[in-house]
Amino acid sequence: MLLFLSDLHLAPRRPALLARFRVLLEEQAGRVEALYILGDLFDAWIGDDDPAPFATEVKRLLKRFSETTPLFFQRGNRDFMVGDRFSTETGARLLEDEAVVEHQGLRLLLMHGDQLCTDDIEYQQVRAQLRSPQFRQQALALSIPERRALAAEYRRRSGESLSLKPADITDVNPDTVRQALESHHADLLIHGHTHRPAIHELEINGRTARRVVLPDWREEEPRCGVTLEHSRLEWLTL
Ligand code: MN
Repeated sequence: MLLFLSDLHLAPRRPALLARFRVLLEEQAGRVEALYILGDLFDAWIGDDDPAPFATEVKRLLKRFSETTPLFFQRGNRDFMVGDRFSTETGARLLEDEAVVEHQGLRLLLMHGDQLCTDDIEYQQVRAQLRSPQFRQQALALSIPERRALAAEYRRRSGESLSLKPADITDVNPDTVRQALESHHADLLIHGHTHRPAIHELEINGRTARRVVLPDWREEEPRCGVTLEHSRLEWLTL
């Protein structure tokens, strides 16, 4: 059984979610075949050298989990600054922004999902800038407090910091979804980002493909991820 999570938006100001994540890791360690975290584990990540106790604590939890269970991490739009040091310190293997995984005869396409929201042209332009090696180099040359201020500024400008409600996040573009499934010959697309948890079915060249949108973590939302076993999808609740 594989387990997929995304959009936890862990932050020091949301201790209840960190407690829930700790419980999930303790319960699932050694039980699932692998855990895939598909981005936005963190509400913000300013660099792997952040010495804050919160960052250190999450890394410690992930490290303990990965000692018994394979762990994979894909960057989201909030934690795209995660890098190799994070991978070494947590034992999480980093995935490309579009990752294909074969599981029990199914081809899975894993994405954070922000790259599917192509109706928001301005966002896609900013995304390309932020993901460039130049930006990464310049950002990492700044001090930790400077980076913290920069991250807050970007969130303010994107408007996304004001709300994590789906109504304020652009949804995926259906054509972009089709193209992604077709070009990777995938049976199943799993992504997060839009905060609109659902399992959709769609016809692609005469066969049925599925698109799973992972739930974001909120205190009033019992669903926290999805499991996959023998092509059966089930919500994990906690
Ligand atoms: Mn996101």
